[in-house]
Amino acid sequence: YRSLLQNNGIYLDDNQWSAVETTEGPLLILAGAGSGKTRVLTTRAAYMLTVKQISPKEMILVTFTAKAAKEMKARMEIYPNLSKQTLKQLMVGTFHSIFYKILLHHHPDRWHSSKLLKMDWQRDKLIKEAGREIDIDEKDFAYDQALTQISWWKNHLISPDQVKAADQWEEKVQYLYKRYEEKRTNEQMFDFDDMLIGCYELLKSDEHLRARYQQRFNYVSIDEFQDINKVQAEIITMLTEKSNNLCVVGDDDQSIYGFRGSDPDYILSFQQNYQSAKKIILNENYRSNHSIVSVANKVIATNRKRFKKTLKAQYHIENYPTLFYPYDEEEEATMIVNDIKKRIESGARPADFAILYRTNTHARALFERLIDSSLPFVIESDGESFYNRKTIRKILAYLRLAQNEDDMKAVPDMTSALFLKQNVVQDVKAYSITHDCTLVEAFSYVENLLPFQLKKLKALPKQFQTLRKMPPEKAIQYIESEMGLKDYIKKQGNEGNKMERGSDDVRDLKVAARQHETISSFLEHVDHMIAKYTEIKSLPPSKEAIQLMTIHRAKGLEYDHVYLLGTVEGNLPHDYALEAWREGNDNPLEEERRLMYVAITRAVQSLSISVPMMRRGKQTQRSRFVREAQKMISKASSLNT
Ligand code: ATP
Ligand code: MG
Repeated sequence: YRSLLQNNGIYLDDNQWSAVETTEGPLLILAGAGSGKTRVLTTRAAYMLTVKQISPKEMILVTFTAKAAKEMKARMEIYPNLSKQTLKQLMVGTFHSIFYKILLHHHPDRWHSSKLLKMDWQRDKLIKEAGREIDIDEKDFAYDQALTQISWWKNHLISPDQVKAADQWEEKVQYLYKRYEEKRTNEQMFDFDDMLIGCYELLKSDEHLRARYQQRFNYVSIDEFQDINKVQAEIITMLTEKSNNLCVVGDDDQSIYGFRGSDPDYILSFQQNYQSAKKIILNENYRSNHSIVSVANKVIATNRKRFKKTLKAQYHIENYPTLFYPYDEEEEATMIVNDIKKRIESGARPADFAILYRTNTHARALFERLIDSSLPFVIESDGESFYNRKTIRKILAYLRLAQNEDDMKAVPDMTSALFLKQNVVQDVKAYSITHDCTLVEAFSYVENLLPFQLKKLKALPKQFQTLRKMPPEKAIQYIESEMGLKDYIKKQGNEGNKMERGSDDVRDLKVAARQHETISSFLEHVDHMIAKYTEIKSLPPSKEAIQLMTIHRAKGLEYDHVYLLGTVEGNLPHDYALEAWREGNDNPLEEERRLMYVAITRAVQSLSISVPMMRRGKQTQRSRFVREAQKMISKASSLNT
């Protein structure tokens, strides 16, 4: 079979092959990025199906993201002698998809009729309702962080009553958790965590069913095992208790979901949990050229909590990663787009490119340059356009009213930025009719509010007159400092969402606004971009497009040319990790370094790391990760435009 594979262009080295042949019993494959872990997993499955004649109905292949599952399915199609029929019967999927199927199968009435809280805003809505019921003041409470905490408890199988709150805040969240769960059950809703918990409880409580699934899932293989969390690990333990046929593959250096409760200890202690486990280490990197591999090795070596391993590159091509220093986000985007254009002109395909960043908001400038360039691209994200983000919408509402004092659609956003109740919106509308004036003028007639609120509103019509004449960047500054938005932005910042801050968004909005001379031309641009964003999101996934995604989403994938945005202190590593590090906790910083390692190791041929000198209107410092590997990175800025 091995030579048959070779004849089909599928090579495996001896270590990889020995993993493929180990089909029975527990097997641990621990290896660095690009060493062929996923290839081993798929080849092993193919080997079991064709050579060992194991039925596809006895196997599952599990991974963590839908994109990775899709990729794995596609990789299964290259093997000789595997019929479409067999592949169709083979279960390849994410934990969630597989466990949800089980739940639907056994409790169709319950799970079909319940509603999945699929989008972030749905969970957001539910938790805020729960909060109101227990008198949590919405403006002062970090709901995002509370949701993360609740999800962490759920994934650790800790029920509301079992929580041991560490401080006052956690005590409050524990309360909220209880209420959230009650509401969720009463209203027949469930979130993604409930799929896992539901499956865990089902298998735990029903011995017959458990025995059935132990047979059904006689051979379990899991990719990216470093990302497993408690509830997933418990389910897998139950399923493989009898057969012991569990093959796990992973890299502790790529564990980047700690904040969501995944625990690399499971991979590191695998041999203790499965005493007879065979361990195979793969050291060769088959993905990237050796310059990229040496930078990756160098960066990750600083981490202390890791299983030490050094990757050796198979491909000895010298092509050191490029550092480039754009002035700001706009120039960063321009340089990247121009570089991609040049490479496409000399033969590369759009699909060979990936542009990686920390969070989706960072893609704002890039998105706009790509739209201008008419290159094909896709964004991997569930998120909204930058211009639809909470804080941004509020500011845009002011600008819209400056441009058109009767823009009714903008009023609710504006009043909520001033922390006014929604009935004020109706009042304003009524006053504008009874006094025959514009909506903006009507603000000065509003009654029945606290004196300080009335004072703010009375000042508005005049402020809007001033605002209207300003260039957009200055206008945003004025809205922020003079028209009452500062409080709102500050509250957003305090809302504790560690990854995102309202004020960061506002700074980026100013960078965007700077490109325009008038408010109306800026708003025109904004509306165009919102429309384009919706359009691009609704396109079917294209194979022939430049890929834009977060580093988290890129895990397990590879691209010929990779660009990494915003490699500066405060972003990568993120401020909150640096804060923790200064307080003596270096776990978050180690996770940031792993994030950098994942980003670097996606690149096959070329890697370009951007270190903008200004970011969100502030001077930057290059990332410590860049500093640590600077000697190995070529400074020649080949991305000059
Ligand atoms: P990651 O840690 O990023 O998930 P991985 O360890 O899963 O990486 P793969 O994606 O399986 O690595 O392999 C990396 C690349 O190397 C792929 O393009 C794969 O096809 C190729 N590859 C793997 N093994 C070999 C080999 N023995 N000979 C040639 N190419 C190989
Ligand atoms: Mg992989």
